[in-house]
Amino acid sequence: MNINKKMLELGSKRSIIREIFEFGKIRASEIGKENVYDFSLGNPSVKPPKKVDETIVSLVNNCNSTALHGYTSATGDLEVRKAITNNINKRFNVGINENLIYMTCGAAASLSITLRAILNEDEEVIVFAPFFTEYRVFIESAFGKVVVSNPLEKDFQIDLADFESKITPKTKAIILNSPNNPSGVVYNEQTIKGVCQILNKKSKEFGTEIVLISDEPYRELVYGDINVPYLMNYYNNCIVCYSFSKSLSLPGERIGYIAISPKLTEVKNVYNAICGAGRALGYVCAPSMFQKVIKECLDCSVDIESYKKNRDLLYNSLVKLGFNCIKPDGAFYLFVKSPSNDAFDMYEKAKQFNILIVPCDDFGIKGYCRISYCVAYDMIERSIPAFEKLAKVYKLN
Ligand code: PLP
Repeated sequence: MNINKKMLELGSKRSIIREIFEFGKIRASEIGKENVYDFSLGNPSVKPPKKVDETIVSLVNNCNSTALHGYTSATGDLEVRKAITNNINKRFNVGINENLIYMTCGAAASLSITLRAILNEDEEVIVFAPFFTEYRVFIESAFGKVVVSNPLEKDFQIDLADFESKITPKTKAIILNSPNNPSGVVYNEQTIKGVCQILNKKSKEFGTEIVLISDEPYRELVYGDINVPYLMNYYNNCIVCYSFSKSLSLPGERIGYIAISPKLTEVKNVYNAICGAGRALGYVCAPSMFQKVIKECLDCSVDIESYKKNRDLLYNSLVKLGFNCIKPDGAFYLFVKSPSNDAFDMYEKAKQFNILIVPCDDFGIKGYCRISYCVAYDMIERSIPAFEKLAKVYKLN
């Protein structure tokens, strides 16, 4: 059958992360689960807040079930959007209202809808390496072109000179992800101000409007006194793509939202285009019950201390063994440089000691692996001797 080749290719190509995960399951059946150190997936390892479960029970027991499970309006339940608006304004004081919120099935849907709403064919979207690999899929499916901006390798902040050189009259949007998957880096205020200054300068020079898309499913996962700038406060043409997948440990429930800055140029049209893209992609009426659940849980958070404990053990141990790691301030990923500068080589060698990590060449920068530390603390403890063996193979220290 003459089906769509691009979609066939996309669906047939297995993601390396999934492949590693499947390998881990096979290996566990051969040598025992406790002897496999699977750091491949970004699936939250801490429980959702208790209030999530309590709210579900209360909704099921006390609500009219046809209303609870029925359609909401396409853009999301009005009361839910109002609650989100209040939460955003209370925290970031941006003067947003419920007519600028669109409820979605998580950040993936938020990004797909936003890109489809704003892009015309062949317009460019700048992404900052290292970047979440699905960006490529979302951008190209919206008929756009991916342009990669390189980081400063010393701290993985954005290389502003490189970024400026990548902006052309065809640049329609940039996607910023902070805290970052896969580096764990939080872009500091100086970096954000630099990016926004360049956006304003280049938009003026080219007579264009460039949209800043903030992909922030990890906003709440930061360790210590770290400020994650809210980008609407720094740039007018800003759209936030948010998700509760990580902040409330609800990735399988598929719930998030798009928030549009009230200062965005032609804001009403952009919101209508978001509604149009949601409609075209079939992303209308996000999961009804979970809209109502998150409304009651906007002030809740997960057990960040567990992630921090994991980060500290893993980071300190690997640095002590001589690995070159970027210290993550947020998310739950550790980005490690392959001692041979070859990500696949490190991935293969680690595999020999049953350590499963992700080679990250597809994330836009060569020679690094990602270690997801959203895992049980005792698995990290058990894995340290295996990392020691890996360090010996590379003659570190
Ligand atoms: N953006 C980034 C950077 C991610 O890491 C992920 C998921 O891991 C997503 C978006 C998609 O999140 P969601 O599960 O909410 O669709």
